[in-house]
Amino acid sequence: MGSLRKSALHEISTRKPVPVTTPSDKVSDYYGTNVFNKNTMNKYLSKESYEKVMEAIENSTRIDRKIADQVAHSMKTWALEKGATHFTHWFQPLTGLTAEKHDAFFEPTGNGDAIEKFSGSELAQQEPDASSFPSGGIRNTFEARGYTAWDPASPAFILGKTLCIPTIYISYTGETLDVKTPLLKALTSIDKAATEVCQYFDKNVTKVSATLGWEQEYFLVDSALFNARPDLELTGRTLFGHAPARGQQLEDHYFGSISERVLAFIRELETECLILGIPVRTRHNEVAPNQFECAPIFEEANLAVDHNLLLMDVMEKVARRHNFRVLLHEKPFANVNGSGKHNNWSMQTDTGVNLLRPGKTPKTNLQFLTFFVNTIKAVHEYADILRASIASVANDHRLGANEAPPAIISIFIGEQLTKILTELEEKVHSGKLTPEEKTNIKLNIGRIPEILLDNTDRNRTSPFAFTGNKFEFRAVGSSANCGWPMTVLNLIVADQLRKFKKEVDAQIEKGSDKDVAILQVLRDYIITSKKVLFEGNGYSEEWEKEAAKRGLPNVKTTPEALDALVTKKNVALFTTHEVFSEREAHSRHEIALENYLKKLQIEARVAGELVYTHIIPAALKYQNLLIENVKGLTSIGLGVMEMATEPVLETTGATKTAKTAFKSITKETADTNFSSTQLELVKSISYHVNTIKTGVDKMVNERKLANAHADTRDKAFAYCNNVKPYLEEIRYHVDKLEMLVEDELWPLPKYREMLFTR
Ligand code: ADP
Ligand code: MG
Repeated sequence: MGSLRKSALHEISTRKPVPVTTPSDKVSDYYGTNVFNKNTMNKYLSKESYEKVMEAIENSTRIDRKIADQVAHSMKTWALEKGATHFTHWFQPLTGLTAEKHDAFFEPTGNGDAIEKFSGSELAQQEPDASSFPSGGIRNTFEARGYTAWDPASPAFILGKTLCIPTIYISYTGETLDVKTPLLKALTSIDKAATEVCQYFDKNVTKVSATLGWEQEYFLVDSALFNARPDLELTGRTLFGHAPARGQQLEDHYFGSISERVLAFIRELETECLILGIPVRTRHNEVAPNQFECAPIFEEANLAVDHNLLLMDVMEKVARRHNFRVLLHEKPFANVNGSGKHNNWSMQTDTGVNLLRPGKTPKTNLQFLTFFVNTIKAVHEYADILRASIASVANDHRLGANEAPPAIISIFIGEQLTKILTELEEKVHSGKLTPEEKTNIKLNIGRIPEILLDNTDRNRTSPFAFTGNKFEFRAVGSSANCGWPMTVLNLIVADQLRKFKKEVDAQIEKGSDKDVAILQVLRDYIITSKKVLFEGNGYSEEWEKEAAKRGLPNVKTTPEALDALVTKKNVALFTTHEVFSEREAHSRHEIALENYLKKLQIEARVAGELVYTHIIPAALKYQNLLIENVKGLTSIGLGVMEMATEPVLETTGATKTAKTAFKSITKETADTNFSSTQLELVKSISYHVNTIKTGVDKMVNERKLANAHADTRDKAFAYCNNVKPYLEEIRYHVDKLEMLVEDELWPLPKYREMLFTR
């Protein structure tokens, strides 16, 4: 057997279970103990500093130097007590999920001693040597250095022996170089716009926070098998691999069937997350074998994004301790369900109201409808940029294929709410409403909560679904930093709410009653955006046709989707809300394209190398065995000899049909020669070997042509249209070989081993 695969399987069979330890049976004993949270701050900070920090968190204001020094001092005291030795600014560059630059707390005093030191300026600002992080041209033309700056809204935490301080990352000229900065700006925007709209309904609202509850899907693979698959190691997915005879068709991958080993991993993961204050509640009911899900209780969006990034990091570390590797890739296995990261999203006021939860009175329900319809309108207006926010080379395997969810952005709202919207559309009209009409409409609106209670229908095929008290954006990729789609979603809703406010105010100014003005603008929105609503099966071909008829875009590939980043309309959206300047929008576009094509480039290289060094040698070895066999048969005179008599048919216990079938096979076989099967296999192997070899050579050529493009967008399209198809073609033939070549000789761990080894 291919030696890596063989030793991997051996390693697994002789491994001892990893023991699990929990700090305590009571979660409350250890929840958040590694977080410099409000409670800890209250204990460690002076009253003045504590209040200043709280104020900064509430109002996104700056913290002055004196307070920063005090906070740094307390943070250091706390961290040293907990055994930390280093600190790092923890940030989110544009590729990779998080980055860290570790510094030791100690500083030599000059007389041979050292003291533990950490100042306010070290807390507030750092200058990582970041010349290798992508900046999409910004750094080349302007400032070469960037700095990280403390984000007090996300608490510092201790990971291992390092105090991690969540930060933003920007260039000296003020351009954003990370995912967090634009997210914070979009969150400020939605806060402002939503708070203003809330004033129509409740004057007490002074702040609105976006909330996010993500659901993270992932696969677990034994680390020994992972190490024997260079494609998994280097690209995160299997470039080759025949589907196992038993896949997910039995749909039996539920909690009950989870092995002790996986449970041990999950328990430890949960514990580590809880210590870090990530409020996880793990579930494990994914459809594919060895696929799992982890979801926390929702939090304020900025914090939730940090927690998701932290989770992905912790997962990887804990998995290794259990001899597993986590696969966060959107499609690690062909023909097996992929992984996503559902983003449950809503808006919450500082008075404790979830703006997407229907209320108890007509007034609160009108507020609900306002935010509900404005979200629909925003998604309708900006579907292209929302699609762009989830575009990646890996997510194309889900969005571009007939899998969850499709590339067409549509919204599912359920039958009941569809009815409510239709009623509004019919009953509200322009001009004055009679008192009777008004009462009737309000009565209907007041009925929403009881209606929603029986709204149990759930459409799993929609990329953007309303699920009772929140929207669920399901098209986000499992490996993505969801800060980016969250930036876009909050930004487009903020923009929409701003426009809504303007329109309603204009009508009020013209003498319209406030509620009537709101109803009339909402009615307009329902009419103009209803084509984005779809209740049917999002995976079906009919939907593709229907969507095309409705004029909804169906953008299947990343380079195409990314164009939305730089359209006039979307650049205006970014600049109006000061999320990006025009130049920043262009640099994001450039970085995303580069990221796309580089990943394809790596996949193509790995595929080529595997074909030449693993696949072809294994196939030829087996072919040689066959040739030896044919030679041997010939040498004893059986190579081409006809069978003289019909062989005795030996079948025990077979049914009559089976006997007959077998008899005819035997008859056919008898008519040929003893080497015919071997010769056929020899020929098949040669055919597939030649095809994949030629395929790889042609792909290399296409890569060269693609690389010759000077323009990044052209290059990305060349990779997409001319290189990528070869990967699929080559794979087809490699997978055929996998089914032909003797198991002992096959070098790469097979799907059945990776998916069913627990
Ligand atoms: P599934 O989608 O798998 O059926 P759920 O409906 O239980 O699962 O998903 C609930 C998710 O939605 C949880 O992660 C939860 O934290 C999140 N969630 C619930 N309410 C809100 C809200 N108001 N804002 C954001 N997320 C929320
Ligand atoms: Mg979900």
